[in-house]
Amino acid sequence: MTDQQRISEQTSGTRLDPWFGAYAERTHGMRASEIRALFSVANRPEVVSLAGGMPYISGLPLDVIGEAMDRLIRTKGETALQYGSGQGEESLREKITEVAALEGVDAHPDDVVVTTGSQQGLDLVTRLFIDPGDVIVAEAPSYVGALGVFRSYQADVVHVELDAEGLIPAALEQTLTRLEAEGRRVKMLYTIPNFHNPAGVTMSVERRVQVLEICRRHHVLVVEDNPYGLLGFEGDPYPALRSYDAEGVIYLGSFSKTFAPGYRVGFVIAPHAVREKLVLATESAILSPSNASQLAVDTYLSTCDWRAQIKDYRELYRERRDALVGALAEHIPAASWNVPAGGFFVWVRLPDGLDAKSMLPRAVTERVAYVPGTAFYSDGQGADHMRLSFCYPTPDRIREGVRRLSTVVNAEAEL
Ligand code: PMP
Repeated sequence: MTDQQRISEQTSGTRLDPWFGAYAERTHGMRASEIRALFSVANRPEVVSLAGGMPYISGLPLDVIGEAMDRLIRTKGETALQYGSGQGEESLREKITEVAALEGVDAHPDDVVVTTGSQQGLDLVTRLFIDPGDVIVAEAPSYVGALGVFRSYQADVVHVELDAEGLIPAALEQTLTRLEAEGRRVKMLYTIPNFHNPAGVTMSVERRVQVLEICRRHHVLVVEDNPYGLLGFEGDPYPALRSYDAEGVIYLGSFSKTFAPGYRVGFVIAPHAVREKLVLATESAILSPSNASQLAVDTYLSTCDWRAQIKDYRELYRERRDALVGALAEHIPAASWNVPAGGFFVWVRLPDGLDAKSMLPRAVTERVAYVPGTAFYSDGQGADHMRLSFCYPTPDRIREGVRRLSTVVNAEAEL
């Protein structure tokens, strides 16, 4: 089977299935993400993957963490290996408030619900608020994993333009007004204000205030998805949207990028009434988040210098960002891109006439992988863009990957 056939089979789900007619309607929009279909190919060692967003966990002090985990099981094994509470361990929730305070969030441990990664936070929040046909407004482009969740709850995603300063308030206002005039029910705005996945941009402070004011006026809940906020390469973290409005914003946080995704620990900071429903939804989905994972993260936060680790990560990722944008300037000057001030991603606009999706099989043959822009829209836009991630490969591999990509772009441009 060729790479192209494998990708197409995984994406289209054409395998024979005796239960085909029995699936619930909500599953009809579910499909393997373009990223997942790619992984089997992109993970081969000879391929430089600029596709996935895997953190560089080899940057962690694994010996120190290993010893701390060993001690944890010996001293607190009975709690770590037991069921826990639906809301999450109190000692971890306390530490989460300290982490969130770095972005100006003034929260009490009772305001926090621990989740199995922020991905589960997205799922729970969507489950609480979305009926089939409800509208979720999201940036254009938007995080592929959120679009998958929204589809699975049969939401209608309406995209709003962003630019170098993030979501454009005037476009948001116009979209909300139009949707209301059409009688549509807009339930929430889903936004990634910091080091956007995939667009790389950060919402300016001025716009944060404007976006919140618009959403308040239109009675639209703001879901702030912020896994990258502490991974800025310049200056202090931006104030979270939640720091301006505790009642109108649900904040999703994660330890996946600042520590390690393997523990699957994220969190939601939500207004009181929402929080109670979130705990009920957690209990119905998973009874309680993993105690072992929560205590592991708790132990890491209390025994390791996590602030120094975040600083190290920032430096590591900044160097990789520089390698990526430097290589783009050298090898693919006809493309255009933003220079992200943090996070993992560069959003590249291809030279006119090129289509990132149809170019992908050729790129994989040249041993380089990326995610085509279409993955990040609910409506088929984005073919002229690709997302390149700089978090996992070393700077040398990044430069080699972009060099390979340039041969693909040049070959396609000649067709
Ligand atoms: N939101 C965004 C914007 C992300 O990029 C990711 C990870 N790729 C997530 C949520 C989910 O992260 P996790 O479940 O590991 O916390």
